[in-house]
Amino acid sequence: MKVPASLSTIGWHAVYRLIGALFVAFLLGLVTGRMALSLALVLLIYACIQIRNMVLVDRWLRFRRVLPPPDISGPWGEIVAIVNRIYLRKQYHRARVTELMREFRQLTTAMPEGAVLLGPENEILWFNSRAGEWLGLKRKRDFGMRIENLVRHPDFVEYVRTGKPEGGVVVHDIGQGGSRWLAFHIVRSDTAVRQLLIVRDVSREKQLEAMRKDFVANASHELRSPLTVISGYLDALAEEEKLDPAWKEPVLEMRRQTERMNMIVNDLLELSKFEADDTPREDQPIDIGGLLTLLRKEALQLEERPRNIRVTLETDALLLGSESELHSIVSNLLSNAIKYTPAHGEIELRWWIDDEGAHLSVRDTGVGIAPEHIPRLTERFYRVDAGRARSLGGSGLGLAIVKHALQRHDGTLRIESKEGQGSTFTCDFPPHRIVPRKQQATGG
Ligand code: ADP
Repeated sequence: MKVPASLSTIGWHAVYRLIGALFVAFLLGLVTGRMALSLALVLLIYACIQIRNMVLVDRWLRFRRVLPPPDISGPWGEIVAIVNRIYLRKQYHRARVTELMREFRQLTTAMPEGAVLLGPENEILWFNSRAGEWLGLKRKRDFGMRIENLVRHPDFVEYVRTGKPEGGVVVHDIGQGGSRWLAFHIVRSDTAVRQLLIVRDVSREKQLEAMRKDFVANASHELRSPLTVISGYLDALAEEEKLDPAWKEPVLEMRRQTERMNMIVNDLLELSKFEADDTPREDQPIDIGGLLTLLRKEALQLEERPRNIRVTLETDALLLGSESELHSIVSNLLSNAIKYTPAHGEIELRWWIDDEGAHLSVRDTGVGIAPEHIPRLTERFYRVDAGRARSLGGSGLGLAIVKHALQRHDGTLRIESKEGQGSTFTCDFPPHRIVPRKQQATGG
């Protein structure tokens, strides 16, 4: 802020008053004929008034909590008015902040979530009672302690240190929290040095999710046997020569629909298997090049398929993972590419590695997908064009299976697509899953 060098109104008032006093002294000198004495006398009175005002202001400044502002006129009065205004404004803001803090404390105590305020080094600055209860934190004792030294779950420690995964972590049974499922999310801002850790009890959601998974798995399992019996009878009926010709077409349609139901049930079972099974599998180095070549060969046997299906292998590295799950990923992506690409189109399966890790992509020159659908494609039963997907025999679960299987390999699915031009589905795997072939040869 630029401070002007010129005199303020108060300054000018002081100057005018001094000139006035000097003028009075001059007149008095003329009347009395003793100019020097008059001047000295007036200046002495003037100085006394200034000292009195200064003493009054000083006293008020020191005891302004109890004393009213002094009633002074002139420049000193104006200074008192300015200081008083600043003081009242400060008092008002202080009262507001105190009131806000009181309400904030009341609200955070009533909040169903836990909240912990952390410093730049993750040291605990403040927490509400819910966070204290769930994380076993004690006021005074734990203030200033780093939170990762008190809540030691590895996923939590990793999240607090790296901020990853971005959506936060859900942790089960962290000791003090009992058998709760707690979801942690850190709120940071670019400008603030402090961070807010929000803790939510998601045990109920977890329980409902487990019930849903169980239900889907059990229902799919139960549907399997009756479906097998029905399709057996329908197969026999379709081949029955004595069947009334009027029944021929309905029976064939029933058989097609039963096949679809079978496919949906199988996909549902596969999906629930991935979801239910959190235990780490026996990871093996898998030859992705070989897998892509094999699946291409199988695809070439199909009658209805795009003319050109290529495999591009830019590395011979292997990928640590489960053969059946990786097979499921590629075959789902490839069968989609085949379904949504016309006969004159082409498909490329590509496998390569770079600094960021290993990548596997399935690119097609098919119908493509409009941008608004892309974020939702991996949802169960989400279809861009339900009629077309059904007529092409899709269960709507393929990409959900791919996503889950990828998650189990620490991988992610990237989808790029242009309507009418084609799509590329890329699976990205982290570097720690890459096994160079030489190492594999010496190791095994
Ligand atoms: P579906 O069994 O219906 O193919 P998916 O989960 O495999 O189910 O795919 C979901 C939807 O994503 C499909 O219905 C389709 O609309 C779209 N989709 C998937 N792969 C492609 C692709 N290669 N090209 C265009 N659309 C695709």
